[in-house]
Amino acid sequence: MRIGEAVVMGSEGLDALLTTLIELGYETRGPVVRDGAIMPGPVREVADLPVGTHDVQAPGRYGLEQSDDDTVFAWAVGPGSWKAEFFPPSQELWHSTVDGESVTTTTPDLDMPPLAIVGARPCELAALAVLDRVLLDGAFPDPRYAARRDGTFLVTAECGSPAATCFCTSMGTGPGADSGFDLALTELNDDDGHRFVVRIGSDRGAEVLAAVPVSEVTAADLAARDRVLSSSGDLIDRRLETRGLADLLARNLEHPRWDEVADRCLACGNCTLVCPTCFCSDVSDTTDLTGDVHRQRTWASCFDLDHSHLHGGPVRSSTSSRYRQWLTHKLSTWWDQFDTSGCVGCGRCIAWCPVGIDLTEEAAAIRETDGAVRSLSTAPGRAR
Ligand code: SF4
Ligand code: SF4
Repeated sequence: MRIGEAVVMGSEGLDALLTTLIELGYETRGPVVRDGAIMPGPVREVADLPVGTHDVQAPGRYGLEQSDDDTVFAWAVGPGSWKAEFFPPSQELWHSTVDGESVTTTTPDLDMPPLAIVGARPCELAALAVLDRVLLDGAFPDPRYAARRDGTFLVTAECGSPAATCFCTSMGTGPGADSGFDLALTELNDDDGHRFVVRIGSDRGAEVLAAVPVSEVTAADLAARDRVLSSSGDLIDRRLETRGLADLLARNLEHPRWDEVADRCLACGNCTLVCPTCFCSDVSDTTDLTGDVHRQRTWASCFDLDHSHLHGGPVRSSTSSRYRQWLTHKLSTWWDQFDTSGCVGCGRCIAWCPVGIDLTEEAAAIRETDGAVRSLSTAPGRAR
């Protein structure tokens, strides 16, 4: 088997794939149902995956439904992204212990088994590529991210059941995957049975697949795969017009829409925490009663007042300035920094915003009234 080839496997093949990865020493992770959501978790067999689970998503809304069908990947992304595997929400950078006059500083061991992710969505592969740009490819690569990311085996599950919040078609990141995977699965469940078309994306993928029971792909299988992806694309009706978007936002920093969205925005930061590409963090030191010091890195959000604290106070004291910072970074200045969009169209920030703010709607509103300028005499307490 070679890169670019496709084969077919049944659910027992998916079980064999997981077993093979475990035997090769991978720590296998995939989507699991946890706390009423699809979340990343340990998977060792198909039964650990969300079999028969479907999701319902809308702005400010997320829920799961269970059916008795045997589909494994009939849902869209949940709140937990793969970012947390490589860039954990909280991570010790070092700790020091005091023993009499001597102080010993220890950094955590970065040597971990390689990770295999089975069931990442195409938009999530795109999000990892964006994070790689930020945390690996820059002048100062993050050693913790690099150690965890090194050798990751990626099995993507192309999307047959997009959510109402998805807009990957606008961002060119789904519902199918073109690259960035070792193996790509498309789940088919039709009159010809429950099976997966498997496409090989790397030599490593071909080697792993050699230990899995597969059969030759037929023209009917490939046509069925095309139908799944095309019907997914048709189901995605949320759009983000990306033509000239970076410049549009850059020239509308004084648009009245920033104040309008701030009237609804709670500045809770949910949108940044669920986003698979947001990478801001904070570093803090704590000392326990024994005198040991722990330096911890934790996720931060540009919606936190402290996040823009410079000498004398925060430079983004209003909610409108913080929302503007978030949206213009994602869709405009990310291009200047990393030569890519900071958004992959996964829709998490729309579903998990408690008041249902939708960035596609906000960008469209600014486009419709391009050039509008808000009054600079803002109300008291509404500092810009
Ligand atoms: S846009 Fe929504 S999720 Fe983001 S900070 Fe505002 S209220 Fe929270
Ligand atoms: S900004 Fe929203 S839609 Fe875009 S990648 Fe982040 S969470 Fe997904």
